[in-house]
Amino acid sequence: GNDLLSNHVDNPSLLPVLQSNGDSRWNDTSSYAKKMHAWCKIKNGEWALGKILSNMEKEFLIGFPEGKVLKVSTDNILHANPDILDGVDDLMQLSYLNEPAVLYNLQYRYSRNMIYTKAGPVLVAINPFKRVDLYGHNYVEAYRSNSTDSPHVYAIADTAIREMARDEVNQSIIISGESGAGKTETAKIAMQYLAALGGGSGIEYEILQSNPILEAFGNAKTSRNNNSSRFGKLIEIYFSLTGKISGARIDTFLLEKSRVVQCTEGERSYHIFYQLCAGASASLRDKLNLRNVDDYKYLKQSNCYKIAQVNDAERFNEVMEALNVVHISNEDQEKIFAMLTAVLWLGNISFTIIDNENHAEPVIDEGVLTVSKLLGCDIKVLVLALSTRKMRVRNDHIVQKLTLSQAIDTRDALAKSIYASLFDWLVEQINKSLNVGKRRTERSISILDIYGFESFEKNSFEQFCINYANERLQQHFNRHLFKLEQEEYLQDGIDWAKVDFDDNQDCLNLFEKKPLGLLTLLDEESTFPNGTDLTFANKLKQHLHSNSSFRGERGKAFSVSHYAGEVLYDTSGFLEKNRDLLHIDSIQLLASCSCELPQVFASKLLRLSENAVQSSHRQTGADSQKRSVVSKFKGQLFQLMQRLESTSPHFIRCIKPNKSQHPEIYEQPLVLQQLRCCGVLEVVRISRSGYPTRVSHQKFAMRYGFLLFESVASQDPLSVSVAILHQFSILPEMYHVGYTKLFFRTGQIGALEDTRNRT
Ligand code: ATP
Ligand code: MG
Repeated sequence: GNDLLSNHVDNPSLLPVLQSNGDSRWNDTSSYAKKMHAWCKIKNGEWALGKILSNMEKEFLIGFPEGKVLKVSTDNILHANPDILDGVDDLMQLSYLNEPAVLYNLQYRYSRNMIYTKAGPVLVAINPFKRVDLYGHNYVEAYRSNSTDSPHVYAIADTAIREMARDEVNQSIIISGESGAGKTETAKIAMQYLAALGGGSGIEYEILQSNPILEAFGNAKTSRNNNSSRFGKLIEIYFSLTGKISGARIDTFLLEKSRVVQCTEGERSYHIFYQLCAGASASLRDKLNLRNVDDYKYLKQSNCYKIAQVNDAERFNEVMEALNVVHISNEDQEKIFAMLTAVLWLGNISFTIIDNENHAEPVIDEGVLTVSKLLGCDIKVLVLALSTRKMRVRNDHIVQKLTLSQAIDTRDALAKSIYASLFDWLVEQINKSLNVGKRRTERSISILDIYGFESFEKNSFEQFCINYANERLQQHFNRHLFKLEQEEYLQDGIDWAKVDFDDNQDCLNLFEKKPLGLLTLLDEESTFPNGTDLTFANKLKQHLHSNSSFRGERGKAFSVSHYAGEVLYDTSGFLEKNRDLLHIDSIQLLASCSCELPQVFASKLLRLSENAVQSSHRQTGADSQKRSVVSKFKGQLFQLMQRLESTSPHFIRCIKPNKSQHPEIYEQPLVLQQLRCCGVLEVVRISRSGYPTRVSHQKFAMRYGFLLFESVASQDPLSVSVAILHQFSILPEMYHVGYTKLFFRTGQIGALEDTRNRT
């Protein structure tokens, strides 16, 4: 909670310094003096800056700029930093590292277009929602030549390149933040810097051009972001020994397939559908029997076709150009467009009820005819695949008719599967083009652009997976920072300085433990033919009630205390989404097609289901012949973590300053909540729980030596420093003396500074 940051307050008015770190009781009235500036928590939970007018026992009289005077209780007041620290470019430079101080500092910078700020080793990037003049050739040169050190994505990318060369270790840039915070833009900015420094061969242009393609096929307009990535992405960029980019490899995670067939009001499906409809040439439209966006049910349902300031037809041309750059032939491009059109027409296939048991059959109309033409399959085979299912009952094969809702589900599953297969295939093609001359000796920089922690009113399977991934990443983050801290102490001969941090291992165990963890229980229930969301929820409650990170909730719900807060999950749809059924009939349909892509998709889907059959002990008929979504995701995540663990990481945390996607608006509570979720406040806390202020003996002696009452026999910096520490009765637990530096708990220096300034 926020007490982590507010629990420590300095005492600049009184010496010797008596407070201890981490004791919230210490925030007593004596630490505040008249006329001091202070942050006051006002009604809506926001912080306002005021001046202490008088100091009563449990309250203060605070004056605010507009002449307003309020009584504020001690609990709602925190120290403000001196004006001279306004807008410092590293939060660690703040004397008082409390929440309002951090919020104010970021806001101060944001309002001056300084969207980047360091929080110790982490870069915080606040989305400007407008063009800011911070990029391009001149800026690249400034960072390349080290002539500026203001925080920037370029600076992070530059450090990564340098450390890769110096330490001969692969690097990673890990970007996180919630939807709309600017991850994808930030990733592109980092890539541009790498391309500028490592370019030359031309491959860097191909790498950059993979962006518009992946965005067209994997991004969509959502209520939170007009260009929201609906998949996670890791791009590894290879460098030759001479520091030139030699190739790249892209991995993607968990594409949101459901968007293809289902989309909420005001959102859109994937950009490429609208681009294709708007931008295809007359001859292509003819060939594919392509109509307008509002002729397709999948696109029509959400009642949103356009994005402000975006011209889909123009974008389509850009995507085609990018496809050319990554060497996807015109012939292949046409195949891709045929698959997209097939998906759209699939959505237009309607059904009629054929008997009084609600069994259904597709209506043979333009939809069915066009789909069969575009996939290259027999109409009869298509109709059967959409209206029947082959089942194995003991040793007999029977054919079962589908009910209307089953038929619709089958149609939608086929559409989703074609789209997801197409996406994977496309990534594979891009990789073939980018992965030219990779040799083992080469070093790499990986950039991870992955969905941040999500907590909505209603949280479903998608949030469950995303938040699980974020727990893993958070652990990586914590361990790395902890290690950094510890290393610095060790280097300076301090081997016992303790840095405490909250490990989130408990929460990870809740997910991963076998046999009784969330993931295993979900998989188990997904394979039971009679399993339902309710039986799943009940199982969780039965087996996990003793886990401290878990809480059973009413009905089908449960909640998990994640590092970033408690999230309530509703299990509705969990089993179905986890099973992600594609009937073997549909795979066989694709396999029977005369077109190349459906065949490629079918053989991959078959391979996946065969692998799953081999690795699964509990197999119940044709339906479960596929690895579940979570187990596949977990596998991908483990591979990702393995790769990241072999790199030296750099972290960028993107922050969305407002929900309306407008420039110049800074909503404090929204920012605060993200700072908590993405671990920025945790960094600050980890640092505070250690000894974040480091000063060399020399600097310390020079700066404060004149405050000594008596001169010291030996004038060496260390002796002078120790004498100062003694004179001001700085408690031994507040500092460590290293070989070259003094290490202090937060705020200790603030008190000395204050005395110095008054002298
Ligand atoms: P999601 O998780 O939904 O994919 P995201 O974090 O990737 O979200 P972006 O798509 O990168 O968010 O950013 C959203 C929008 O914010 C961009 O389309 C762009 O308009 C704006 N934006 C982000 N970063 C910058 C920047 N550095 N300069 C200008 N505009 C930016
Ligand atoms: Mg994105």
